[in-house]
Amino acid sequence: MNKVYDSIIIGAGPCGMRIALEFKKKDVDFLILEPGTPGGKVNVAPRVDNYPGFKEIPGPDLAVALFMRLMDAGIELVPEQVLSLTKKDNFIIKTDYNTYEAKTVVICSGTKEKKIGLEKEDELFGHGLSYCALCDGHFFKGQDVIVIGGGNSALKEAIHLTHVAKKVYLIHRRNEFRGSVKLVDELRNSSNVEILTPYVPSKLLGEDKVTGIEIAHRETGEKKIIELQGIFPAVGQIPNTQFVDIPCVLDDYKNVPVTMKTMETSCENLFAGGDVLPRDIRQIYLAEHDGIVIAKNICERLGK
Ligand SMILES: Cc1cc2nc3c(=O)[nH]c(=O)nc-3n(C[C@H](O)[C@H](O)[C@H](O)COP(=O)(O)OP(=O)(O)OC[C@H]3O[C@@H](n4cnc5c(N)ncnc54)[C@H](O)[C@@H]3O)c2cc1C
Repeated sequence: MNKVYDSIIIGAGPCGMRIALEFKKKDVDFLILEPGTPGGKVNVAPRVDNYPGFKEIPGPDLAVALFMRLMDAGIELVPEQVLSLTKKDNFIIKTDYNTYEAKTVVICSGTKEKKIGLEKEDELFGHGLSYCALCDGHFFKGQDVIVIGGGNSALKEAIHLTHVAKKVYLIHRRNEFRGSVKLVDELRNSSNVEILTPYVPSKLLGEDKVTGIEIAHRETGEKKIIELQGIFPAVGQIPNTQFVDIPCVLDDYKNVPVTMKTMETSCENLFAGGDVLPRDIRQIYLAEHDGIVIAKNICERLGK
């Protein structure tokens, strides 16, 4: 191992792709590591209605458009997953295939879905239980499904499902939703939706495939069984930061705090942006904003 890159970007979601485009303009010697589909979470967004230049665009179409910009700029993704990030003089990144060294690193590896934590969740995954309505919603055409959660993602997943499923239940543990009022109104106006609050899931029903769900009222403890074929948990995110092996970079929730002005972490020359940050709102434009700030600061640091 002798080559030392100027910078290595971990993840090719909107944050990582934006940084790569800025780096390319400034001739930074960098790698962008991405084991999955370029575009990250944008690929599973049923519809994006807050991205400049588009009134509304399906997430996968936007992901392709972003990726095409990378291709046009001649940027190639390295299809490798980061397994560890440590620091000696430089940063050392081990992937499933290689070891790399870099002067600066950006963690923009996003998040993965939090599980609801009930028995049979793993067994029923792929057999009626899915964490992505856009990817799997069409399997539930004319069937009854439930979405669990109260944020924008849960609301959008439920709205998407109203166009496919016969009936969509939405349960949320509080009476108020964290998501936008506009989305809640849109959902309430759908003819095939039933919103139940404050309810939590208490049992997943079905042996080889989902046949229903038991839900419990949070105040009275009353339980209800709903027969249905699809369960879509949308209860939050866990940061993809398990590979970070540098002290004090992660907070208690495994997010990566940064100084907002520079997007630098507590470790010098280690930056982070997008959904891995501890923030309430996780959006594409925020990830891109972070990417631009990070690229500017790294370029200044490298004298580019
Ligand atoms: C259902 C849904 C709907 C949404 N709708 C909207 C919307 O309408 N508008 C909006 O603005 N936002 C929306 N969002 C949020 C938006 O998609 C995210 O905020 C945005 O994609 C975050 O970008 P990011 O670059 O930080 O992370 P991500 O997009 O999550 O990208 C991170 C990338 O890092 C990669 N990665 C992970 N671990 C590793 C590793 N160990 N090594 C290398 N690479 C790794 C992942 O494969 C991924 O490609 C939605 C999200 C969801 C789930």
